Amino acid sequence: MIKGWGALAVLLIAAVALYAWKGASSAEYSSQQFLMDTLITIKVYGKDREKLQQPVHEAFAEMRRIAGLADHFPAAGTAAYAASDICNINQHAGIKPVVVQPDTLEMLSFARRYAGLSHGAFDPTVGAVMELWDFGGESPAVPRPERIRQALPLCGFRYLVIDRDNSTVYLSKKGVKLDLGASAKGYATEKAYQILKKRGIDKALIDAGGNIRTIGSNREGKPWRIGIKDPRKDGALAGIVSVENGSAVTSGDYYRFFERDAVRYHHILDPRTGYPASHTMSATVVTQDSALADILSTACFVLPPQEALALASGITGVDLLLVTSDKRIMHTPALAARVEITPGSGYRYDPGR
Ligand code: AMP
Ligand code: MG
Repeated sequence: MIKGWGALAVLLIAAVALYAWKGASSAEYSSQQFLMDTLITIKVYGKDREKLQQPVHEAFAEMRRIAGLADHFPAAGTAAYAASDICNINQHAGIKPVVVQPDTLEMLSFARRYAGLSHGAFDPTVGAVMELWDFGGESPAVPRPERIRQALPLCGFRYLVIDRDNSTVYLSKKGVKLDLGASAKGYATEKAYQILKKRGIDKALIDAGGNIRTIGSNREGKPWRIGIKDPRKDGALAGIVSVENGSAVTSGDYYRFFERDAVRYHHILDPRTGYPASHTMSATVVTQDSALADILSTACFVLPPQEALALASGITGVDLLLVTSDKRIMHTPALAARVEITPGSGYRYDPGR
């Protein structure tokens, strides 16, 4: 009898706890904005819907601010051009150092560090070659080889000189151009995450087109399940990773590309050749910080798979999943506990052990 009451009490406590927990995150607020060439969605959960909106507005404002500093596309003479630290730095390449905002200094210091660690597979000075391809333009085309040959000497993170004491950045060679397309979105996402945290949000998901950042667990109190797209089949997944309080960022050859003579030319270049990197179809980095994940996903996309896995394994708290061009799915050992592989047709799971 007493045993029965005990069981009932446990059930009651569980029910109350579930009710309290459900109540704690019963409201949801979701908003979308187009920023940095991407549709960005922020979803937050909490008790009171009224209190969820303001933090999201502030998070978007922060992302817009970072986007404005990092944008390298505005036309010269426009207000956006004048407001962009990156445009200003590019304009003064080989002429003089430029005073920049603390966030620009931070973004570039971080980028420079990982450009070195990846031996230039990720290189924020890839701008001069990148613009020859015009991937975002009306009619992107394969540049003439001599144009790539001429532009290649203008890529090199060693030309990026950062003076933290004086808050200046200098590109030491005329014609060198910064392009933060591989890293600014992750940095902005992390800043948005920090705003949400500071405003007391403890359950949220920021989806910045392939860059996912989560706060806490999902509505069921479990880790968020993040799908990794099959690079060649719309709507299909190559895998699912579980992420709690962290990021999963994918670089893929399917986001922006064109085809000529049955060859796919996509937007992630090997800075050493000036042509699209060819080892990999998608690289997903799972780690806490979304700025780091964004940089490393690009670096690991460019590197040969074994080097990419070694780079990721060598950094504490970083995991990597690759879908290689020869259709293998590979990942760092520590990811095994947090990934479900759904290879579908055509892929071979290569656990590498
Ligand atoms: P992501 O999708 O993060 O890999 O970034 C791709 C974008 O980064 C491209 O659209 C370019 O703007 C830029 N980019 C391309 N190749 C590289 C590279 N090897 N290193 C750094 N940035 C790159
Ligand atoms: Mg990236």
